[in-house]
Amino acid sequence: MITAITGGSFGDEGKGKITDLLAEKADIVVRFQGGANAGHTIINDLGKFVLHLLPSGVFHKDVVNVIASGVAFNADVFFSELEALEKGGVPTPQIKISTRTQILLPIHKLQDQLEEKRLGKNSFGSTQSGIAPFYSDKYAKKNIQICELYSDALEDKVSRLVADKNALFEAFYGVKDAVDKDELMAYLKDLGVRLKPYLCDLPYYMNDAVKAGKNILFEGQLGSLRDVDNGIYPFVTSSSPLAGFASVSAGIPPYAIKKIVSVVKSYSTCVGAGPFVGELFGEQAEDLRNRGGDNGEYGATTGRPRRMAWFDCVAARYGCMVQGTTDVALTMLDVYSYLDRIPVIVGYDIDGKITDRFPETYLLDRAKPVYEYLDGWKTDISDVKEYDDLPDAAKAYVEFIEKQLGVPVTLVSNGPKRSHIIYRGFSAD
Ligand code: GDP
Repeated sequence: MITAITGGSFGDEGKGKITDLLAEKADIVVRFQGGANAGHTIINDLGKFVLHLLPSGVFHKDVVNVIASGVAFNADVFFSELEALEKGGVPTPQIKISTRTQILLPIHKLQDQLEEKRLGKNSFGSTQSGIAPFYSDKYAKKNIQICELYSDALEDKVSRLVADKNALFEAFYGVKDAVDKDELMAYLKDLGVRLKPYLCDLPYYMNDAVKAGKNILFEGQLGSLRDVDNGIYPFVTSSSPLAGFASVSAGIPPYAIKKIVSVVKSYSTCVGAGPFVGELFGEQAEDLRNRGGDNGEYGATTGRPRRMAWFDCVAARYGCMVQGTTDVALTMLDVYSYLDRIPVIVGYDIDGKITDRFPETYLLDRAKPVYEYLDGWKTDISDVKEYDDLPDAAKAYVEFIEKQLGVPVTLVSNGPKRSHIIYRGFSAD
């Protein structure tokens, strides 16, 4: 089976935990987009780990973990995460990196920081990890693929890149000679040596794996609404977190991906700038934020408090539609055990017109949430193992969301641990 696990809305839905769970049965786990700008939090028998770049299969020693060609590869984060795993007592994972993956350079990070500073209050809320400049340079065809580290043409290319960047940084940001060519060359030469053991001609490796019937899991970062094309542009990431892009990044046929699991959580959160319909403020937001996740809803990478709202069926339905979701994994159901009644956003009122369709971004600022209210269950559900043992009100909540999304909810997560999971017809085969 070839499965993609993706975020069904804004990201941070608890994908790490679901991927970690499903990775147990996988032969190969693939990161296919983005970079070290978002993080997965995984809690397992060895402790709590935050992964920004490594695939979530690294905790399973038989799994091959792949970093595919569409990833923004931050080598410094890669090596420091490997080190953190080693220190945490995790056996050395199997890792393969595509030779076609491009390197996120220190220049990209610097450019991101300078640009955010320049934009001031008009900034997009970038994590300043260099992702947007990296993808801009990718499409401007200026980036360095890992395989080019071994090419005679490397020095020439680096010279041109450094000249371009220094001219840009001086003219636009008033920073002179920000990048030193020799320093960058030395950094890249060193990378060439350190990365060699991990490299792989990925399209051939992946197509052989598909033909051999391997169990492959693609792991998306962020969520549908951050997709550069279908999301809330410009408050999006610079790559595509959609399952469709997984096949592009790994060089396999799109029709090879049979199962698309979208993770959505029982309420909504969002980080960074941009429209967020039904945003809660004050005590209500704080209360939900502090009860969420395993330690409150704060960014895994940045520590930023996340923006909070009740579950938004309009956004999640659209998010699942553009993913092509076949299965929904609903997380954080346990977090809702404190409410007497649970508001759910079922429509948007835009200038007096009610719609259940997710509009283009410019209209979102004018959208007011239309709520329905469901009964709460007011009891701890984190020990429940079977769906039928959930309180009726909790089942009604799950089934309401399932009907709204139009996709079966086959996994329900009722706590942060791997064991906090309720199977509801999910099949990994
Ligand atoms: P991701 O990037 O989509 O994995 O999202 P996060 O990094 O924000 O992870 C979500 C956090 O919530 C992690 O700390 C998880 O351990 C935790 N978590 C995942 N599922 C559940 C759940 O069902 N209930 C609770 N309370 N916490 C969960």
